[in-house]
Amino acid sequence: MKRGFEYRFYPSDAQAAELSRTFGCVRKVYNMALAARTEAWALRREPVGYNATSAMLTAWKKTEELAYLDDVSCVPLQQALRHLRTAFTHYFAKRANYPRAKARLKIARIHARVAGRRVDHRHKLTTRLVRENQTVVIEDLTVGNMLKNRRLSRAISDAAWREFRGMLEYKAQWYGREVIVVVRWFPSSGLCSHCGARQDTMPLHVRTWTCRCGMTHDRDVNAAKNLLAAGLAVSACGAGVRPQRNTPGGRSATKQEPLQREP
Ligand SMILES: [Zn+2]
Repeated sequence: MKRGFEYRFYPSDAQAAELSRTFGCVRKVYNMALAARTEAWALRREPVGYNATSAMLTAWKKTEELAYLDDVSCVPLQQALRHLRTAFTHYFAKRANYPRAKARLKIARIHARVAGRRVDHRHKLTTRLVRENQTVVIEDLTVGNMLKNRRLSRAISDAAWREFRGMLEYKAQWYGREVIVVVRWFPSSGLCSHCGARQDTMPLHVRTWTCRCGMTHDRDVNAAKNLLAAGLAVSACGAGVRPQRNTPGGRSATKQEPLQREP
């Protein structure tokens, strides 16, 4: 039984920005469709199907406020709607809980803050993350590189991170949750989670920053939002980010492979 996949991205800068925009739109569309379905069901006991939400999407794109949805591929957006339909099918068949908004799913941008803690803390935290969330997205970090950085090496050890990730994965299995690993090339810190603009540099000492769109971000929260959007987009709309063959020396390919457990 497959419980998860590990994804490896090697996007160029332009592709990364494009992915980030797409992920933001996917989340927006999913959440709006969920809100529409929820309202119709809660107020009028009226089921809203995929075709209805697809028509809504067309209408949303025509509004000034949501015209930006037209700037990304429609494939992942429609897949988000299909994913939502599946979630509702499972719910109505009493096989799953009511679908949750993507923004409410939690994030785990946990490396520096968490991995340095003691084992019992790691147990408590992983249990909580897995119990409270359907999906947890983590960043696949090159701990070796991080250890070269003096600021991070104090907070993390290779073993601690691996243990944390292992706990997260086996507990996710117990609870029927999903752990999505977004790989290290994803520029989680340098992208504005609000508008998708990429910052030229993002030195580690910068803890809060303001994007040119006017949004002020906490560094880790912003990175977490980007990771969550990336992980969920991959999870919900795998076809939107098609697995490709790795090209020799190329960082422009997207690779998808089954989860491999570390020994
Ligand atoms: Zn921005």
